[in-house]
Amino acid sequence: MNRRERMLRELDLYPVWVRRAGEVAPAPDASPNASAVQSTPRREVIPPSPPAPAPMSLPQAQAPSTTPMVADTGRAGDIAGMDWTQLEQCIRDCAACPLHAKRKQAVPGVGDRAADWLFVGEGPGADEDERGEPFVGQAGRLLDNMLSAVGIARGHDVYIANVVKCRPPGNRTPEPLEAGACEPYLKRQIALIQPRLIVALGKTAADNLLRREASIASLRGQVHDYNGIALIVTYHPAYLLRSLVDKAKAWADLCLARDTMTRLKDATLNQEPAP
Ligand code: URA
Repeated sequence: MNRRERMLRELDLYPVWVRRAGEVAPAPDASPNASAVQSTPRREVIPPSPPAPAPMSLPQAQAPSTTPMVADTGRAGDIAGMDWTQLEQCIRDCAACPLHAKRKQAVPGVGDRAADWLFVGEGPGADEDERGEPFVGQAGRLLDNMLSAVGIARGHDVYIANVVKCRPPGNRTPEPLEAGACEPYLKRQIALIQPRLIVALGKTAADNLLRREASIASLRGQVHDYNGIALIVTYHPAYLLRSLVDKAKAWADLCLARDTMTRLKDATLNQEPAP
């Protein structure tokens, strides 16, 4: 099995099946009933390779900033000066927005604090609220496969965080006020980690990190800039659990992410003075 096939398998996209001519397509919103789909006659196809990413200038790696990323005033300024211990405690004790009232616990984030990769989701769900770790439910299992597709694993060279650190009731999308209250935490996490590449999982992460509202379709396929750090947008794993078509697009996004990381690392190596 070659690298591409391995990657597809990590995303449950390999082998991928297509209907024979004449077979009736299921309704697009039919529930994803795997056994029904797999009982139809089929032949194996692999999605086409995603187009090679257009050459683009990558954001220059930033030297660790000595100045805080937010105005050095008030709460945001305090958070911008925190170390990991202070930051995690502050998140666990936070009562800055109404989400704290219904949480079991805050979910600061997890992973390698010196990671090259940062994956950012939306906010904890019920499982995460229970366990205090991001992406531990069903969507988390798909995220683990996505990490594996780019050659990393939870805890190794990747940090996983969310836009909001407390569970929105009923897993609704966080309100702007809630995301705004949590923003200094994510900013500080990014400043402490200094990742080479951020992967924004879904619209909430993309909108909040890029500070504009846009569809995932319009944002994916490009390398964006987050304060000098490369940022790639893809679909949220919880959404991908329901959309096989967009899973194939997510695979293309991960190829772009993996290739971008390679280029970023190569660029650093080329900058290092010869021994
Ligand atoms: N969805 C998210 O966006 N984050 C989690 O931690 C879990 C599910």
